[in-house]
Amino acid sequence: MRDNELIRCEGVWKVYNEGRPYEVRALEDVSLRIQRGSFTLFSGPSGSGKTTLMCIIGTIHRPSRGGVYLNGKDISGFSDAALSRIRRERIGFVFQNFNLIPKLSAWENTAAPIIPLCVTERERRQRALQLLNRLGLMERAHHRPEELSGGEQQRVAIARALINDPEIIILDEPTSNIDVENISLLIGILEDLRAKGKTILASSHDESMLKRADLIFELRRGHLTGIRTP
Ligand code: ADP
Ligand code: MG
Repeated sequence: MRDNELIRCEGVWKVYNEGRPYEVRALEDVSLRIQRGSFTLFSGPSGSGKTTLMCIIGTIHRPSRGGVYLNGKDISGFSDAALSRIRRERIGFVFQNFNLIPKLSAWENTAAPIIPLCVTERERRQRALQLLNRLGLMERAHHRPEELSGGEQQRVAIARALINDPEIIILDEPTSNIDVENISLLIGILEDLRAKGKTILASSHDESMLKRADLIFELRRGHLTGIRTP
């Protein structure tokens, strides 16, 4: 199984405001392994460190201590430029509040990450529309975020995360801002992605999500307190 390991955290700590009176130990000595092509869930109460951990794995934050390995390579010492390259090429992040750009249409939001690449607007639009179509949003392609429902906004955020065809997709609380029907749709999308070999990480408390996961990591106050299967 080890050769199929994609992500490894070894003794990861994250201390916000280190050395100051309002110091927060968001993660303490977290070690874990994630297999390529698996669906991993992080569960635990609010404030337990789920977002922090996923941001560290997603190269958005750096650990205060410890190693984060991608494909066996410790990325914690990488330069900012190298980390943003990994983020751009290999990771798709779906934020809890979706973080869509209000002034842009669904397809423009979807295509935003590939603007820095040298592709024509026509190609960007084509790639975005293809993804939106796959996510059942073809008729919403020219709508702005405020004209979309929560579930639709989330699917635009998923489309944007997928535009670079990343190997890792990270979703922070994807079930918290959508209704039951959209949760079923979301699960279908995630299973489809897993079938395509993607590695999926998410935080969620939703039972139907928990049932679909390959592995569930439980966090409490910054500690990894349990690992279980559904
Ligand atoms: P969860 O996603 O499980 O709710 P978080 O990772 O968001 O947990 O937060 C873990 C702890 O770190 C919390 O106590 C939170 O208040 C704190 N925290 C998160 N982000 C910051 C930050 N940028 N600065 C200071 N403290 C933070
Ligand atoms: Mg969180």
